[in-house]
Amino acid sequence: MSVPELFASNVFNAQVMQERLPKETYKSLKKTIDEGKPLDMSVANVVANAMKDWAVEKGATHFTHWFQPMTGITAEKHDSFISPTKDGKVIMEFSGKELVVGEPDASSFPSGGVRATFEARGYTAWDPTSYAFVKDGTLYIPTAFFSYSGEVLDKKTPLLKSMEALNTQALRILRLFGNTTAKRVNATVGAEQEYFLIDRKMYDARRDLVFTGRTLFGAKPPKGQELEDHYFGAIKTRVSAYMKDLDEELWKLGILAKTKHNEVAPAQHELAPIFTSTNVASDQNQLIMETMKKVAVRHGLYCLLHEKPFAGINGSGKHNNWSMSTDTGMNLLDPGSTPAENGQFMLFLVAVIKAVNDYQDLLRLSVASAGNDHRLGANEAPPAIVSVFVGEELEAVIDSLEKSIPYKGKGKKTMKLGVDTLPELPKDTTDRNRTSPFAFTGNKFEFRMVGSSFSLAGPNIVINAAVADVLRQFADELEGAKDFNAALHDLVVRTIKENKRIIFNGDGYSEDWAKEAEKRGLLNLKNSAEALPHFADKKNIELFERMKVFTEREVVTRTEIMLENYTKVLTIEGLTMLDMVKKDILPAVGEYTDVLCKKIADVKAVLPGSEVGADEKLARKLLSLSGSLSGKAEQLDELLIEAKACSEGKEAAEFFAAKVVPVMQEMRACADEMEQNTAKKYWPFPTYGDILFSV
Ligand code: ADP
Ligand code: MG
Repeated sequence: MSVPELFASNVFNAQVMQERLPKETYKSLKKTIDEGKPLDMSVANVVANAMKDWAVEKGATHFTHWFQPMTGITAEKHDSFISPTKDGKVIMEFSGKELVVGEPDASSFPSGGVRATFEARGYTAWDPTSYAFVKDGTLYIPTAFFSYSGEVLDKKTPLLKSMEALNTQALRILRLFGNTTAKRVNATVGAEQEYFLIDRKMYDARRDLVFTGRTLFGAKPPKGQELEDHYFGAIKTRVSAYMKDLDEELWKLGILAKTKHNEVAPAQHELAPIFTSTNVASDQNQLIMETMKKVAVRHGLYCLLHEKPFAGINGSGKHNNWSMSTDTGMNLLDPGSTPAENGQFMLFLVAVIKAVNDYQDLLRLSVASAGNDHRLGANEAPPAIVSVFVGEELEAVIDSLEKSIPYKGKGKKTMKLGVDTLPELPKDTTDRNRTSPFAFTGNKFEFRMVGSSFSLAGPNIVINAAVADVLRQFADELEGAKDFNAALHDLVVRTIKENKRIIFNGDGYSEDWAKEAEKRGLLNLKNSAEALPHFADKKNIELFERMKVFTEREVVTRTEIMLENYTKVLTIEGLTMLDMVKKDILPAVGEYTDVLCKKIADVKAVLPGSEVGADEKLARKLLSLSGSLSGKAEQLDELLIEAKACSEGKEAAEFFAAKVVPVMQEMRACADEMEQNTAKKYWPFPTYGDILFSV
């Protein structure tokens, strides 16, 4: 099958709707999709029936309301289309009501305490802005998930609300620039997804990978990523077959899988789709992650989406490329070719810069998790400081605006100053800074702190809400201005002056930066326990309430859920470590030490006077390491018991960060040294070398 034929062949998209729905039905559905108009039940019945017929032709027997609870992954419950007839047979049926609302039992999803006050009932409501699709014999209907009392229980609803807020405020700005044609401004996202691919047998042999998604032990192999020979390297046959299969599966689901390549670390790869509207990008990213795992199994592989599956080599992120675009196709972060366009561009640009400065804490915590703590602010990773990269040229423009001096482009003639004072901007800022957490890359921003396993919803809710709120302030100011151009210039320059501290174009990984950032008063929230509680800071609750994204109660409950998730993950990791230490590592090293001792005794008996110093030294070393490892295991055991006494939330999270994590690190260091000193055949599981070079 050709790719254009294959593409979206399992998606109930606009084209299929148009083909299969009566004209009037299609029109009213389209209104719902494009303008958020409520859907009439009579229309829903017709749509449901057409959807069912189409899905059955594609081999579907079931349907599911597909939703995104706060676990960060998706949830589904399948119901078949069957409906009994009088003669003891069945027909396939699907009603408008079944399409529009579902009622899954909500009691076992995290609700951060909302559950206590409402009955177990939860509802799912169709999100017609994200197309339904068929996968594995089931019709999937993207839905939002909320409680009986109307509290939002998912990640999708607030994302949609944040997009709405951004739309409202961005349109106000566009109107000020005389734009009367744009009807909608959409936040767009293209997320580059990094992942590791390892042999399935290696995965099965490591309980840490099975239970926690990352290796809790593992000495550095002789070869890591130091030769930089993997990045963009030739793709191995087995990986290439996997990627081809993956692309095809994604294309069928209407996902614009575009770019694939090897990443920096051995066994690490990346897939990037073409950007789309944020909620669709978020839904599709969930499908990408799921499909990556599923296809891997077919190839005897395992796909690791954890942020740091292996210590000592690069972790995996999900670079969130973000911009705003109108329904008429204008990218609001694209520098224009005329000074008038640039005035508008500069305003949106400084709005994002201000949003990042004002809400550094929210951006930081939107990507905080036990897994991502290994990538951000940890020993071998970039610091957890949020800053914005704008590139040399834009920085020069910003500089000249701030100082009211003419801008001289690099090697170019002095730039023309339009709309009184705003210069004509370089069309393409191609210089890249891979160390910046929030980088302007020519016509979009790239938020690089997002972890590979994250839902795109969280970080984008924050970006959208924060930018929307700044645009609101801008619109308030400019709408009242007597001289628009003068007010615009004044606002841009003032915003630059007030938010300059967040701009940093240097090496974000250097130690100097951490010091400099501190001088500038930027936040450095080193781990999740430090970052997450700020979600419920007064200024943040106010932001979300103003933008109608979350209620105070929703913010508070979500903070609890995130903190709880952090401590749960660490508890599972701690228990898995204990299990592996007690059942595998200590017995294995004990066995090897016994062998060494026996050998020493034998040599001494048979060949008295022979040199056995090296073996003796090794045996002593292993004995002493075993001693300290069991000591630390005991310590961890006790800490995990102690942790249960902490009150939930912040206190428990802080206990884990301050007490549990360091002991886990010490245990690991000890076990890794044991691995390096133990003969291979005694070591109880595959090593880093085995795993990373297994495919
Ligand atoms: P790189 O690895 O060089 O940063 P990639 O090509 O891997 O770049 O990924 C860039 C991503 O940015 C793609 O997903 C692309 O679709 C996305 N992108 C491009 N323009 C926009 C935009 N206006 N809004 C959101 N995302 C965008
Ligand atoms: Mg890329």
